[in-house]
Amino acid sequence: MKAEIISIGTELLLGHVVNTNAAYLAGKLACLGVDLYHQSTVGDNPRRLSESIRTALGRSDLVILTGGLGPTVDDITAATVAKATGRPLVLNHSALNGIRSFFKSRKMRISAGNERQAYIPQLARPIRNRLGTAPGIIIEIRDKSIICLPGPPRELCPMFEEGVAPYIAKRFGRLDLLVTRTIKTVGMPEAGVNRAVRDLLELPPPTTVGIYAKLREVHLVIMAKAATRKLALRSIAGIEKKIRRRLGGIIFGYDDDTLEGAVGAILIKKKMTIAVAESCTGGLISSRLTDVSGSSKYFIRGAVPYSNDVKVKYVGVSRDSLKKYGAVSRQVALELARGIRTVMDVDIGLGVTGIAGPDGGTAKKPVGLVYVALAKEGGSVVKEFRFSGSRQDVKWHSSQAALDMIRRNI
Ligand code: ATP
Ligand code: MG
Repeated sequence: MKAEIISIGTELLLGHVVNTNAAYLAGKLACLGVDLYHQSTVGDNPRRLSESIRTALGRSDLVILTGGLGPTVDDITAATVAKATGRPLVLNHSALNGIRSFFKSRKMRISAGNERQAYIPQLARPIRNRLGTAPGIIIEIRDKSIICLPGPPRELCPMFEEGVAPYIAKRFGRLDLLVTRTIKTVGMPEAGVNRAVRDLLELPPPTTVGIYAKLREVHLVIMAKAATRKLALRSIAGIEKKIRRRLGGIIFGYDDDTLEGAVGAILIKKKMTIAVAESCTGGLISSRLTDVSGSSKYFIRGAVPYSNDVKVKYVGVSRDSLKKYGAVSRQVALELARGIRTVMDVDIGLGVTGIAGPDGGTAKKPVGLVYVALAKEGGSVVKEFRFSGSRQDVKWHSSQAALDMIRRNI
């Protein structure tokens, strides 16, 4: 069974709206075990849309259209599908009732444009829209199906869950399920992870592994297709075990886990508290640590000692060190970590200092130079990093490095 998605809307072609519907539908179809072979985007133009529909019907069993079902003149989907399939638009009473009750329940007056939305191609079926006026449309042509869905994601997503997924399962019979498992790593570049698992990346279907580098993390996604969830999970478990054996300590979590969440879990387990003195990250590390629910158990204070005076006055960095080594130095990072640990009387002190750019770099201390230090009972560690990218990139990379340092050193 082959499916494809046609996204409709000139705003998508112009890049004014990001096509999240296609991404959402692609994910959902994969979970249902439907093979998605094509995605295309067309503007609000009947001729080009007709062309796309005809091409799609020539090669796919299921064609999902999104957008252009509204009541305005640029909403051409229903009429164009009608023309392309030779099924004229007719008034559908169940669709009309649905639209009427939508307005009634909101105590609003229905307009002629909205009543027009009850016209759908002959022999087509409306799909109820709980959150908007435009009904979805299902048209069956021999053994193929066209499904039209509204553009607004808040209408499309529930409609897919409630009206489309069950329809696909019924119409196209039992399909294999696709189950995925994401293994998240930090602290090793993509090339290194790639080398460690290269043979697994070449596994043939039905169980495959993909590698994705993402904001200084590398994710491995295991995908398994099988008749039941249990069977899929079994083949995933086998590969996961191999990956865990090879990558061990750089794995911080799975699926929806975050690095800050993983760090929080370790701090809770070890009953440790932490305070942060972060200069170049401007509070990002504290913000991320406190994104985790329950972080008040371990996060005591986040300070942003940006100026040298504040570093000295509130965190206890020595003026001599600032003069001798400069604010961006191994020594000052260490003093920030030790200082905040002492001032706040916590188990872990974290210090970060660096040059986020784009200005302020020198030959000796280039943009992207960052020092991260961690102080704890029995000693401290400090590491130098050279990050590249925009100011925001350098801040993000620094926060990743700092969180990873906590994870590895407690
Ligand atoms: P309406 O009744 O609101 O007009 P519609 O079905 O006609 O709905 P469109 O007019 O195509 O849908 O799009 C309405 C809005 O929905 C767009 O302005 C955009 O914000 C959002 N939208 C449309 N298509 C997509 C898409 N593929 N991904 C994300 N958002 C989308
Ligand atoms: Mg519209």
